[in-house]
Amino acid sequence: MKRILITGAAGFLGSHLCDRFIKEDYHVIGMDNLITGDLKNIEHLFPLKNFEFYHHDVSNFVHVPGKLDYILHFASPASPIDYLKIPIQTLKVGSLGTHNLLGLAKVKAARMLIASTSEVYGDPLVHPQTEEYYGNVNPIGPRGVYDEAKRFQEAITMAYHTYHGVETRIVRIFNTYGPRMRLNDGRVLPAFIGQALRGEDLTVFGKGNQTRSFCYVDDLIEGIYRLLHSDYALPVNIGNPDEITILDFAKEIIKLTGTTQKIIYKDLPVNDPMQRQPNIDKAKSILGWEPKVSRAEGLKITYDYFKGLSQEELNKVEHKNFEQYIK
Ligand code: UDP
Repeated sequence: MKRILITGAAGFLGSHLCDRFIKEDYHVIGMDNLITGDLKNIEHLFPLKNFEFYHHDVSNFVHVPGKLDYILHFASPASPIDYLKIPIQTLKVGSLGTHNLLGLAKVKAARMLIASTSEVYGDPLVHPQTEEYYGNVNPIGPRGVYDEAKRFQEAITMAYHTYHGVETRIVRIFNTYGPRMRLNDGRVLPAFIGQALRGEDLTVFGKGNQTRSFCYVDDLIEGIYRLLHSDYALPVNIGNPDEITILDFAKEIIKLTGTTQKIIYKDLPVNDPMQRQPNIDKAKSILGWEPKVSRAEGLKITYDYFKGLSQEELNKVEHKNFEQYIK
């Protein structure tokens, strides 16, 4: 049985990856420090023989007994408000955490895939973004702690690949959504759905003419699964190129949820990227991958998930006065 270590296992993407690799008959070792992750996302795996969990912060030395075939490094705060609230941890998990895991990959002769992000492109001047684009990032802006951690992560991963011969893979993940996102993590999709469910107005930042391209989680997981098993070491964009303005997206959520609330406008956060859309030619040609789930289908599944949450979870306020973090 192949053994895989998944960091950030209790998070949104990490937990879906655990499910996928359990389904593929791997022995899955989940690791998480539970700062932003939630054990609820993986509690159904605890009774399984081929699942184990370590409560550990990968920014500190990582020890895993026995052989390891693969490492997936998905531990990191990933919503803008999270990484502004815990900026130092965000920098550490992308830099020190990645270094520790690359060291582990080297001694175990394991293949390691790191979760990079479209944030490496910053507020992009090239549209749609290809993997060749170097990006437009403000290192000292509010997003710098995340963007530069991820850029460093790519750099050290390529260095271990080139100088230590570690087998590495780099996925650049574009906005992804689906069940197990935190309802109150501040990201736009749970924010809008949460507001609709609580009977609040939907908060569009700026004029809402900035764009994003949303990928359903199952599509993303399939792309990552294929990339891990490919022989391609350079970064690959995985995302859904179906681009939409945030204002139109708010209107879609109003229609989907049937809310009678209105749209209200708030200040645009500093360095908020104006446009974002993946060019996925590489994923298509190298992995034979493209997204299959339309936004209409994916949003319906995600809305049903959020509707099933308890009143207590719905009303949990994680980011009171969060404007202070984004100005
Ligand atoms: N946004 C918004 N209202 C909200 C939350 C976010 O208009 O309540 C906007 C935000 O300014 C950004 C986009 O939605 O332009 C996506 O934000 P998110 O935090 O989901 O992720 P990002 O793609 O910026 O990392």
